[in-house]
Amino acid sequence: MSSKTFFQKIVDREIPAQIVYEDNQALAFWDITPQAPVHILIIPKKPIPQIELATSEDEALLGHLLYVATQIAKKEGLNDGYRLVVNNGAQGGQTVFHLHIHLLGGRALGWPPG
Ligand code: 5GP
Repeated sequence: MSSKTFFQKIVDREIPAQIVYEDNQALAFWDITPQAPVHILIIPKKPIPQIELATSEDEALLGHLLYVATQIAKKEGLNDGYRLVVNNGAQGGQTVFHLHIHLLGGRALGWPPG
């Protein structure tokens, strides 16, 4: 039985996704259940399960993912703002254990989050 997450399967092109960006370290694709007019996930190709498990070796990679998110937001025309979210662990609402940044935009987002 494969222990790959859905996101690793997307990286490995074993399941389809609507991919909007790719480089040697990162992949970005539309969320399958969008919570806003724009809802894109930015993930590292390296399978870090959750942000709390990133190591000092991953510092540059984490910065890269954030930068990629800003460039995708620009490309999607999110000129009035957007939100970047990382859910970590059970109480953080994480359901897929491959680190990902949610890019949410295209509508006014409430605060505090649920
Ligand atoms: P989390 O709750 O872990 O922060 O976010 C996981 C996100 O992945 C959810 O928003 C969910 O809709 C999305 N998702 C789960 N499985 C798939 C999938 O197979 N493909 C895509 N594109 N998104 C997925």
